[in-house]
Amino acid sequence: MPKSVLIIDPLPIHRIRLSALLEGAQYAVVSIDEVAEATRRDQDVDLVVLGLSTAQAPTSVQATVRAVGPDIPVLCFDADPTPLRRLLAIRSGVRDVLPRDCPDNLILARLRSLLREGEALRECERRRMTAASFGFAEALGDFTHRARIECVGVGVDVSALLGAALGHDVEFSDMDGVIREAAAEMPPDVYVFQVADDPAALDLILPELRDRNYARHAPVLVIYPQDAPEIATRALALGATDIVPDPSSGEEFALRIDALLRLKRLSDTLRRSDERSHRLAATDHLTGLYNRRYAETYLGDLMMRMSETGGALALMVVDLDHFKRVNDRFGHTAGDTVLREVADRLRDNLRACDLVSRHGGEEFLVVLPDTSVEEAMLTADRLRRAISERPVMTGASGPVSVTASIGVAPGRAEVIAQRKNGTFDAPGDVGMSISTVFSAADTALYRAKGAGRNRVELSDV
Ligand code: GH3
Ligand code: MG
Ligand code: MG
Repeated sequence: MPKSVLIIDPLPIHRIRLSALLEGAQYAVVSIDEVAEATRRDQDVDLVVLGLSTAQAPTSVQATVRAVGPDIPVLCFDADPTPLRRLLAIRSGVRDVLPRDCPDNLILARLRSLLREGEALRECERRRMTAASFGFAEALGDFTHRARIECVGVGVDVSALLGAALGHDVEFSDMDGVIREAAAEMPPDVYVFQVADDPAALDLILPELRDRNYARHAPVLVIYPQDAPEIATRALALGATDIVPDPSSGEEFALRIDALLRLKRLSDTLRRSDERSHRLAATDHLTGLYNRRYAETYLGDLMMRMSETGGALALMVVDLDHFKRVNDRFGHTAGDTVLREVADRLRDNLRACDLVSRHGGEEFLVVLPDTSVEEAMLTADRLRRAISERPVMTGASGPVSVTASIGVAPGRAEVIAQRKNGTFDAPGDVGMSISTVFSAADTALYRAKGAGRNRVELSDV
């Protein structure tokens, strides 16, 4: 779906020119002549472009900013964007101010970067709502802690302004220093680059930073000479997050850097909560072991790999004996403690490359890659003993003794049979193959239960 841009400009000639430019770049454009109309419209827009005439006070943009809401970036065009007028507009909440006679390619580059930013903000908000509805919303990043701002190529004048305006740790560095720190995975919170006349420096450094894992997430502000907009366009194309002309006031630098810090902290929070929800989606919350869904996906991948390399694997199903009686006699809480302790004992008695998951209630699945049947049987017996050799301490309910029965099935015969038939090509075949190994292990488990429990049985196949 094309991004939608709302143009609010009292001057028809500007509306027409800008509409033509944006429509040519495949945006969905709506243009109107006054803010009041914007507040009456309820359709979603991704970005608002606001034209300001010289007669208008820059602070008048406040009404628009308020009407469109906090997560929709507002870009201003001003006929005479002096540092003071720009500052007043930015202070009133617009994200950037460009001159009316700004080159087309800079307008488009800036629009793209602001749209990306708006999208990131809205995505953060959506995920935060989802996380909240699952009850695990993480508090937003702390906006007040001192940030590290790393400045490169910044001249004396701008240095003085930055130092005075920011309540953060400002460091001055050169290109080599920046790359060294990025390589050492110690990037700052925000980079500030000043380019005097030679944009070649940006060609060297920006792609370098965007390629590094950690540095990639740090926003970049590029200061360019007011009369060299081509440097700004180039900077945005290379991945700069924001651009600001020189001269600008210290307060403008500070406001822009604060906006970048806010963006950085939101996206850091988002990344962390993503990692967390992936972890939550893959694990069982009582025992912390992998869950069934994860184990099955992992096993599918493993078997696919084995079908190519011809390796062996073994699978076992571990089921606690008469566990219902444990619950009945000691209570469900004690039962839970037993399950957690059994999970720990299983984990402690397996190699790092083995996978153990909770497959359901009191049943666990163990996958042993590159393991022969003999090794698997020995491992199974070690697990059986680890579970039964000493009781589980459950606190108030006292010590609880449990035993487990284990069914073992080798993966190799299965894979070889499938390969011989030439049928192990598609993911569906892996699924079939998995379910055959599963049911082989299950049959062996059933046999162990029938033969008196607390024992290990090997499947026939
Ligand atoms: P068998 O030796 O034949 O496996 O007997 P069993 O009692 O272990 O098997 P059954 O399948 O009849 O009962 C399993 C019990 O496991 C029943 C259920 O209450 C208990 N269980 C399943 N999940 C949990 C859990 O999360 N916590 C606790 N405390 N108990 C659970
Ligand atoms: Mg059981
Ligand atoms: Mg069971």
